[in-house]
Amino acid sequence: MEHVRKLPGIDPSQSAPTAGEVRDECLFSPDSRPASSPENEYAVFPGFVDVHVHLREPGFSRKETVLTGTLAAAAGGYTDVCPMPNVSPVPDSAPHLEETLKAARGGVVRVHPYGSLTVGEAGEVVSDLEGMANSVVAFSDDGRGVQDEGVMREAMLRAKALCKVVAAHCEVNGLLRGGCIHEGKYAREHGYPGICSESEWREVERDLELVRDTGCAYHVCHVSTKESVELIRAAKADGVDVTCETAPHYLLLDDSDLRDSGDFKMNPPLRDASDREALIAGVLDGTIDVIATDHAPHTAEEKSRGLRDSLMGVVGLECAFPALYTGLVRTGIVPPERIIRMMTSAPAERFGIVRDPDTNYCVWDLGEEYEIDPDKFLSKGRSTPFRGMKVFGKCKMTVCDGRIVWIDDGFDPSEITKR
Ligand SMILES: [Zn+2]
Repeated sequence: MEHVRKLPGIDPSQSAPTAGEVRDECLFSPDSRPASSPENEYAVFPGFVDVHVHLREPGFSRKETVLTGTLAAAAGGYTDVCPMPNVSPVPDSAPHLEETLKAARGGVVRVHPYGSLTVGEAGEVVSDLEGMANSVVAFSDDGRGVQDEGVMREAMLRAKALCKVVAAHCEVNGLLRGGCIHEGKYAREHGYPGICSESEWREVERDLELVRDTGCAYHVCHVSTKESVELIRAAKADGVDVTCETAPHYLLLDDSDLRDSGDFKMNPPLRDASDREALIAGVLDGTIDVIATDHAPHTAEEKSRGLRDSLMGVVGLECAFPALYTGLVRTGIVPPERIIRMMTSAPAERFGIVRDPDTNYCVWDLGEEYEIDPDKFLSKGRSTPFRGMKVFGKCKMTVCDGRIVWIDDGFDPSEITKR
């Protein structure tokens, strides 16, 4: 691990303590709530699992590489990440997937790639799912919706036969009408073309009907609208095999926070306050199962063109937990164990990711307060709406398969196991 050696403070010969040894010295673990204020106390959690990231290799290493993306993951407490297949070549067949798998070997944490649902993510011909099933975590055409119902039905039936999850980016192209941010108050007042909520929930609605027919294991990516939450809640009540994720920015921000900066440009867009509240309700009642970041790095130039013309996508791996901990846990809105479950066991169980919690964990100082500064990110991507946010919670160490893959400047792991 040549690259780990370059990180400040990491001695590659140093063996990591087990999570049990660390946990004995920490204030709370996911199974126990803090008895008192967690200020200035370490907490140990199982390594976080992000089932929705973009590592941009092969094909777009100017935006991110597997190495920089997984270093960012490690710094954010993640030991497992699942990169989406919108790379070049798209992993839509065994030979194309081989290039993604080759790139994935450059990661410092475990990388579980997706295969695409359709050839070239073009939505017309279903990919060679059978030829890829043994080497992918699930199938997705993330980045675009599968417009043709017949194609989606066939993909679901074939994925079901392979016992694989279909993870869907739900978006009806015909309803987008050139929009760049949510069709709401900010868009109206500032004269931007809007993206309507219906462009998301119409496809969720269609897919849930297909899931009822096909019995496929189905996961909705980055849910952003209240209507989607309601549709998924109703489907779950009927016993449909559906799970879903949302991202920290949809839970913590809405269109009243928008500024004319690429930092606020992502797809789906930040919706309005009623959507944000519905998403939090969905987190609390279990309708939303997973928190993923949709870490989507672009170059500085690609994000420099304001709300209207910047590319869609923001980075998230290095600030997800501090933002959630500060905005939802410390405020008493969501219990800490709920957030931790949504970032660890829930995604791992749904996507069949198996790991040993004793050798895959992260240690946090929950009392450390600082300002999110993207210029310090290990990711090549620097665009995040959380820039400048004052947060609590600093990742001090991440251990993946018993190896230290991230250690914060000045942190000595032997200190907390020998106190
Ligand atoms: Zn997407």
